Amino acid sequence: MNISKKDCTGCTACVNVCPQKCINMTKDREGFTYPKIDKEKCVYCNLCEHVCPIINKPVLKRHPIIYAAINSNNLIRENSSSGGVFYLLANVVLNNGGVVFGAAFSPDFRVTHIKCERPEDLYKLQGSKYVQSDLNHIFRDVKQALLRKIPVYFSGTPCQIGGLQQYLGRNYDELICQDIICHGVPSPEVYVRYIEALKKQYNAQIEKLEFRNKRKGLVQLSN
Ligand SMILES: Cc1cc2nc3c(=O)[nH]c(=O)nc-3n(C[C@H](O)[C@H](O)[C@H](O)COP(=O)(O)OP(=O)(O)OC[C@H]3O[C@@H](n4cnc5c(N)ncnc54)[C@H](O)[C@@H]3O)c2cc1C
Repeated sequence: MNISKKDCTGCTACVNVCPQKCINMTKDREGFTYPKIDKEKCVYCNLCEHVCPIINKPVLKRHPIIYAAINSNNLIRENSSSGGVFYLLANVVLNNGGVVFGAAFSPDFRVTHIKCERPEDLYKLQGSKYVQSDLNHIFRDVKQALLRKIPVYFSGTPCQIGGLQQYLGRNYDELICQDIICHGVPSPEVYVRYIEALKKQYNAQIEKLEFRNKRKGLVQLSN
């Protein structure tokens, strides 16, 4: 694949599209993942290059319409990193029979994208996790849902959304993509080592982890 490591965002579009399943994401020493091709299995179909959002930079076809909004529910805002609009939009999709994809903590506090089908599970996706989320093969799950005409709300970094759109290759009426403003994801390996250091320092297990906790700084709005 004709792309250097410095340009690759690790969006996984190439991994998901590969018909030979011969591309795997491998970690570097900072824990960022990059595609590695098994050249023995590769049939040089070039689909990986075809879907790469760095090789094929998306072109903005029209200027976006901008709205500003904030969730008036104090509790939802408290559990969200910004104005809690993600929760509002995701709830609408779930209540209309759709599914929501976003970043959640795994039991060992790694960050990974999951599918959420019930409003009561949305709390798992709420709140920014300031570390690169592991997408695994989630783009394939998104496509499966869209082919079954299920409404999909996919939330992620702009690089992840770029990868998803390239992988899908066309617009779907049932798909809502929501990217967050993001100037880069911190290293997953530094994060994992930090957790390990905390456990050692306090000789304890971690029960809950939050970034940018608002407990002491929430501005109350009258609902
Ligand atoms: C790595 C990162 C960097 C960011 N940088 C900025 C910034 O520079 N300036 C700024 O204004 N805002 C930034 N944000 C966005 C901001 O923190 C809020 O997430 C965003 O404004 C949405 O707020 P909310 O209250 O509506 O939803 P929230 O409940 O806060 O956000 C939940 C949504 O964020 C998604 N999400 C959480 N963590 C990740 C992750 N690691 N990767 C992909 N998606 C994730 C979830 O899937 C969910 O959909 C960043 C977020 C992340 C994750």
